[in-house]
Amino acid sequence: MTVDVEDFFHVSAFESVISPDNWQQFKPRVDINTRRLLDLFASHNVKSTFFVLGWVAERYPDLIKEIHQQGHEIASHGYAHQRATKQTPEVFKQDVLRSLNHLEDLLGEKILGYRAPSFSIGYTNEWAFEILAELGFKYSSSTYPVKHDLYGTPDWPRFAYQRKEGITEIPIPTHRVLGRQTPIGGGGYFRLYPYALTKFLVKSYLKKEQQPYSFYFHPWEIDENQPKVAGASAKSNFRHYINLDKTYGKLDKLLDDFSWDTMRNVYNITVD
Ligand SMILES: [Zn+2]
Repeated sequence: MTVDVEDFFHVSAFESVISPDNWQQFKPRVDINTRRLLDLFASHNVKSTFFVLGWVAERYPDLIKEIHQQGHEIASHGYAHQRATKQTPEVFKQDVLRSLNHLEDLLGEKILGYRAPSFSIGYTNEWAFEILAELGFKYSSSTYPVKHDLYGTPDWPRFAYQRKEGITEIPIPTHRVLGRQTPIGGGGYFRLYPYALTKFLVKSYLKKEQQPYSFYFHPWEIDENQPKVAGASAKSNFRHYINLDKTYGKLDKLLDDFSWDTMRNVYNITVD
């Protein structure tokens, strides 16, 4: 189980209308939404990996400590939620390092995992894995082997594998039919699909692939009361706002119907 801890105004779907310079104009809701999730996880006795955005960790250190104290894994989602595909290696490294240093100082322990914003490691920036390994990360979950307008590495491995750079990559799960993969890892698709379909797809994946299934979503996805962002495209609006009022209930069922744990436990990630 994974959560990308960021707020509604950080998402890539709104990056053309909200730049990082404007983030401070919004009233954050990530704190209350993440605390609702912590209660939900606790009620199911589920442990999760939280990929925390550095921007959030700097503003809500107590929230990050609380997540950690409840036995969840803290991992990094970088600092400023910029796609790695748009960064130079040096800018990428500085962004990741800033979040890593902050999280490790805050918790006094090593951070093992990283997830790139919008699964933005792919064909054009494999150098990112080298930098992650150099910074001491043991795993990444930054690739999505599907065809999508914003991301995707359809012909890269679909299951966790060891990279030559010395890091384990855990791709987002996909459903493969007739040689084509469709996304089943969470987020917008989880909100779009009826719960019964998600349950069916997860069950089939577990049975057919004999691989652990990982799920991702964001605290804003259970927040039907978040303010509407003006000026975004119809497609971005659809992706962001569809079924926000139903996600909490679906998640409740998902936590019940399968057994979950942190990335480091499920994929046996160890510190050397
Ligand atoms: Zn994100």
